[in-house]
Amino acid sequence: MRKIIILLLLISILFSIIGCQRTNTDEKEIFTPGTYEGEGNGHNGKIKLEVTVDGNQIKTIDVKEHNETAGITDSAFNRLPAEIIEQQTVAIDMVTGATSTSKGILEAVKSALLAAGASEADITKAPTKKDVTGQLIEKNADVIVIGTGGAGMSAAADVIKAGGTVIIIDKMPTVGGNTILAGSAMNAASPEVQKLQEMPASQVIAIEELLALEPKDEYMAKWQEEIKADMKEYKAKGATYLYDSPALHKLQTYVGGDYVGNPKLIEIYGNKALDAVNYLKELGTEWSPNILAAVGATWTRSHQPVKSSGSNGSAFVLPQLKFVEDNGGEVLVEHKAEELIVENGRVVGVKGTKSDGTPFDFRGNKGVILATGGFAANVEMRQEYNKHWANLDETVRTSNPSSATGDGIIMAKAIGANLVDMEWIQLVTGSGKGTFTASILNNIYVNIIGERFINEDARRDHLSQAVLSQPRSMFWLLTDGHTTIDTLGGYAVDGTLIDDRVDNTQLFKGDTIEDLATQIGIDPVTLQKTIDQYNEAVVKGNDILGRKVFDKQFSKPPYYAGIGVAVIHHTMGGVKIDENAQVIDTSGNPIPGLYAAGEVAGGIHGSNRLGGNAITDIVVFGRIAGENIMK
Ligand SMILES: Cc1cc2nc3c(=O)[nH]c(=O)nc-3n(C[C@H](O)[C@H](O)[C@H](O)COP(=O)(O)OP(=O)(O)OC[C@H]3O[C@@H](n4cnc5c(N)ncnc54)[C@H](O)[C@@H]3O)c2cc1C
Repeated sequence: MRKIIILLLLISILFSIIGCQRTNTDEKEIFTPGTYEGEGNGHNGKIKLEVTVDGNQIKTIDVKEHNETAGITDSAFNRLPAEIIEQQTVAIDMVTGATSTSKGILEAVKSALLAAGASEADITKAPTKKDVTGQLIEKNADVIVIGTGGAGMSAAADVIKAGGTVIIIDKMPTVGGNTILAGSAMNAASPEVQKLQEMPASQVIAIEELLALEPKDEYMAKWQEEIKADMKEYKAKGATYLYDSPALHKLQTYVGGDYVGNPKLIEIYGNKALDAVNYLKELGTEWSPNILAAVGATWTRSHQPVKSSGSNGSAFVLPQLKFVEDNGGEVLVEHKAEELIVENGRVVGVKGTKSDGTPFDFRGNKGVILATGGFAANVEMRQEYNKHWANLDETVRTSNPSSATGDGIIMAKAIGANLVDMEWIQLVTGSGKGTFTASILNNIYVNIIGERFINEDARRDHLSQAVLSQPRSMFWLLTDGHTTIDTLGGYAVDGTLIDDRVDNTQLFKGDTIEDLATQIGIDPVTLQKTIDQYNEAVVKGNDILGRKVFDKQFSKPPYYAGIGVAVIHHTMGGVKIDENAQVIDTSGNPIPGLYAAGEVAGGIHGSNRLGGNAITDIVVFGRIAGENIMK
């Protein structure tokens, strides 16, 4: 059993709100007094609880067991039982950002109340509307950080480390933004660890191809020179290990983004990548010794946290949250920032509204850090800025939560910030139920006739274009036991058991290739031939489609196939920042008091973000923003 369950079994949460409960005024007995068990389906499995009732009131709700992700779902467990008792109904609003967990809690309470003899009508009355809008809230700290994802948390932590006070706010009821949901592949050259893996000849060729490119500027020339010197030594030693270096990471980031990114920012990014991994380790993130290749990473340098509980992103965000709270940082959820306050040309704070309608005005002596994430979930902005995809309207799905609406970009633009690279919007190929990991290693894409159609280690824009041009704009993502058993130990990135995801509509499991092919309606002979060709390419390191990143043959049962499509995943553009993470205005000058980090800022990933590069970016530049605003 996993840690979270054990913890929850030990510490069951008892909610009992007496004195402010709504009562059943007609005094008709609607329950048979006693304690009843209830069960509902949350995001990661069953939620079990006990409800105690007297003749006509719900008295206590005691959560006994669940496997939901800490951090993302805390607000649902804290809020819903209390509200049910206060309102004496299960017809209450779900918690945004934790809807599956909310549904599970409401379902569990409802089943217990029905077992207590209540009728559906007795327990689904409309709640009493509360008017709780309060007076303007005013607060002050050295720095106000907007957004509690990885960039905001890193910034807040470094403000504290520099001796400052910080208030960090989020519009959602839960902390973490995109970051807590992320597959959490984090790219950094870590040569000592990577040396433990072999480098196929195909990857040596990939390096040589990069070195043969015409340098675009002095930065690129310098990175190429460094790699050339390293490779000379590598070859002289007759080495076969996996080579990596900050220079190769920077070069691939720049080339992979079609030279649109700012090489000055990429230089800092690559130099501080490994520090960022180690910084998270110091705060409590436990890293797996396996270095993987995230989808679209183009190299095997993706670090992944060891799965301890819930989604992978919680392995970063929760230790950061703990550090910030333990060191005096004030973390306020359900506080939506709406406007930056500018006085005498300097950003001095932010105005906004709490979810209950109460206005707030928070001042930062040193200024404000924007860490509000991207705009993948804002259809209007996607349509306004998109130049490269045929259609990004509401019919195109996004992997992002509803919070990713570009608020920071809008607020900064309103006070004169310059925006860069806004037209570059990333689609990624994923398979919903069949995406167990952010890694591409050992995964294969086939179309509906069972043939591979793209080198799976390609850039994300190339992968997405290739999928969009397949029949029905879909593919099957095939995974074998090397990934599901050896790498993942049976758990997907969001903490669910992989086998619980098999539903025989979107995700199928077979013990043989033939069995799997039959289940997904592909000719078994064709699929076997595809797999045989792929396995031969793994051995020879020479793939007909040009794949260069290989690991094992596709040969370990059980085999899984998930329906895959291209979804909007990341927005590369955002506010322009300089090397200090300070926001730059449309005249090219830094805006006093305003810093930005993470997906809200543009300039690093260019036209195409490499898979696994965002987590590194948000930590590196989040920290830079925190450090510099304090100077
Ligand atoms: C499903 C998924 C998987 C991913 N996997 C990976 C991966 O494996 N590796 C990788 O490198 N990248 C990955 N990414 C991308 C990466 O997670 C994001 O780019 C990164 O987490 C963004 O971090 P951030 O701190 O900039 O923003 P976020 O984490 O999105 O945080 C922004 C926060 O700001 C809050 N906010 C927004 N507007 C306001 C406002 N007006 N007032 C107050 N608060 C506001 C939001 O509610 C949110 O909590 C993934 C993304 C997704 C969606």
